[in-house]
Amino acid sequence: MTHDLSTLTAGRIRDGIAAGDFTATDMAESALARIAALEGDVHAFNEVTAGLALDAAARVDDLAAAGEPLPPLAGVPVAFKDNMNLRGTNTSCSSLILESYSSVYDCTAVRRMLDAGAVPVGKCNMDEFAFGSSTENSAFGPTHNPWDLDRVPGGSSGGSAAAVSAGMAVLALGSDTGGSIRQPGALTGTVAMKPTYGRVSRYGVVAFASSLDQIGPFSKTVEECALTLNVICGKDPMDATSVDMPMQDLAATMRDGVEGLRVGVVRDLMALEGCDPRVRACTMDAVEVLAGLGAEVGEVDLPSCMYGMPAYYIIGPAEASSNLARFDGIRYGHRAEGAEDVMDLYLRSRAEGFGPESIRRIMLGTYALSAGYYDAYYGQAQKVRTLIIRDFEKAFCDYDVLVTPTSPTVAFKIGEKSSDPVSMYLSDVYTIPVNLAGIPAVSVPCGLVDGLPVGLHLMGRHFDEATLMRTAYSYEKAAALDMRPPLASALGV
Ligand code: GLN
Repeated sequence: MTHDLSTLTAGRIRDGIAAGDFTATDMAESALARIAALEGDVHAFNEVTAGLALDAAARVDDLAAAGEPLPPLAGVPVAFKDNMNLRGTNTSCSSLILESYSSVYDCTAVRRMLDAGAVPVGKCNMDEFAFGSSTENSAFGPTHNPWDLDRVPGGSSGGSAAAVSAGMAVLALGSDTGGSIRQPGALTGTVAMKPTYGRVSRYGVVAFASSLDQIGPFSKTVEECALTLNVICGKDPMDATSVDMPMQDLAATMRDGVEGLRVGVVRDLMALEGCDPRVRACTMDAVEVLAGLGAEVGEVDLPSCMYGMPAYYIIGPAEASSNLARFDGIRYGHRAEGAEDVMDLYLRSRAEGFGPESIRRIMLGTYALSAGYYDAYYGQAQKVRTLIIRDFEKAFCDYDVLVTPTSPTVAFKIGEKSSDPVSMYLSDVYTIPVNLAGIPAVSVPCGLVDGLPVGLHLMGRHFDEATLMRTAYSYEKAAALDMRPPLASALGV
């Protein structure tokens, strides 16, 4: 029997299986049926893993039948961005250069989800190698926003966001280097979180910019976000940058309320010209809700964060150009036919395999790191990064949580920004400083503009995910918005 996954939470699924209301196999079949109904319109997936899903569900059903205690994500249909390794799948990063690459091991975060009983339904479309803010830079075609199929879902984790928004998966993982979880979260009306740098192991996620990348969840509710964080966070011997820092039980502490919490609205970033005034108004309404719940609201400036964008577009591509050097047609990736010598083989394989945005990033990064320009670009950008870190340190002396919109606009039309990279890059003005500083941040749906979702961006101190979950949960409960996209409800599958 199939169920409407857009109305079931992860907790309800686990409890329902334990109580015998339905089986994990029912849940897997419901997800696969919904994918079959919607995927032609949405294109959230590069690969649907029906076999893996049904196998994992059968294991959960065996556990339940034996009366064993069920792990926290038992029977929950989940999807993974296609830059995360999962044995038995391709991990293409939506690139022709890795089109036929099959994973030989599991990404740690993916493994933790599966060990917690999650049921993998597929690998999600993305911007090639996570370069982009719209999921249009995929070699396999764009993903469509379930709220309006003519619009982008945001990016680069747009497939993961669309899958959760449309109820094709209950949870999904994405990666966030400059906003790639939070911005698509905002544009699809989902809860989307980037944990503190070091909270989640990066082992097994294809590296974009190693000093910025972090894995995090998409969900429909804050409670499920907290639940997922508790599963994926933690030290991993396979990633030296993962930290051994105890995490509170987030699903418990999130109910503590926001009485007396100091919330700082980031005045100078809110005033940026490119920010749609209606998005700004929606954000301020959400701040009013927090004030009504007892939060103390004030204003703060983060002057160096204005330079986050240019600094990020030096540091990100510099690290990417180095990380992507391994895709050369010999060690990894597509190999061109008929090369004359090894140099010709490299040149042809890479030219054939990489799409235009990847080539742009590799060239920008190589230039910024080249002798003679290194100090002027890369060195300078690192200094800006330090100033941004200091801005946040100062602001967090006076405030516990900082607020901006997640994205300056709602979802834009497919094709609207694809010929103008700089206007596309501006989608991430609010999210990028967070990655440069390594702090955690979450996007929570806070209303609609023109019938399209707006995200409230909450930023916290290093390793203080608990305060973010508490703020997000209090807001979500008070606002009580219905964030089901019309596409999903109309279908009723
Ligand atoms: N949109 C940003 C970029 O294109 C961020 C991408 C990301 O976080 N992976 O670099």
